[in-house]
Amino acid sequence: QEIMRKNIVAGNWKMNNDLSETEELLGHLKMQMVKEPEAEVMVAPAFTNLYTAFRVLKDTPVIVAAQNMHEAESGAFTGEVSAKMLKSIGINTVILGHSERRAHFHETNEILAKKVNAAMEQEMRVIFCFGEELEDRKSEKHFDLVAKQLKESLYQISEENWKNIVLAYEPVWAIGTGETASPEQAQEMHAFIRKNIAEAFNDEIAENVSILYGGSVKPANAKEIFAKEDVDGGLIGGASLKALDFIEIVNSF
Ligand code: PGA
Repeated sequence: QEIMRKNIVAGNWKMNNDLSETEELLGHLKMQMVKEPEAEVMVAPAFTNLYTAFRVLKDTPVIVAAQNMHEAESGAFTGEVSAKMLKSIGINTVILGHSERRAHFHETNEILAKKVNAAMEQEMRVIFCFGEELEDRKSEKHFDLVAKQLKESLYQISEENWKNIVLAYEPVWAIGTGETASPEQAQEMHAFIRKNIAEAFNDEIAENVSILYGGSVKPANAKEIFAKEDVDGGLIGGASLKALDFIEIVNSF
């Protein structure tokens, strides 16, 4: 069986860039990104800038993703945005489970399962983020913790739905800290994740899902991380805010 999984580089802009800053960054990406990048490229601006991003990048290979969504279709959920609303402005991809959503906005594995299910029902693609904290790694619980995150939020989906899942392993201790997991640490965890999926589902699903690494990926370290067998790209925070750095990371395959 041929392995079909894609290389992906996704930029998570977090709560950065107002409208004019967003337009500027989008303009640079549009001008400077090669027309046929070696990886699928995604960017995730804030909600207020999603439609602008969608319009600017419409005839480029860059996909625009949201950073979060609510699990309900509509209703009395002040301040929230649904999958249907995202889809109505051309956004078919959403990041779910980012460690900042888990830490600051109390998103549990259980809530994330509902969000994943809602996205699957709407046939959205999900970049599902998970990863251990430093304490978990120090006490050697990181494999168990990651297995639990996957089992409790993701393994309820059907085999068919895996085509819409991208995984992003992001050790919390490496996010925004300048400290990256070593390429070996990333590879070790990614191989574990693939094995875990093979056991819960099957080899075909495990081999075909893209597993991204996230946490202080930069132009200087992207190449050696992406070179690892089970690392299929990256979810990039800080370095995705600079067009040239982001493009250099995209070109690191
Ligand atoms: P970072 O963020 O690249 O700034 O560490 C990664 C992320 O939070 O997705």
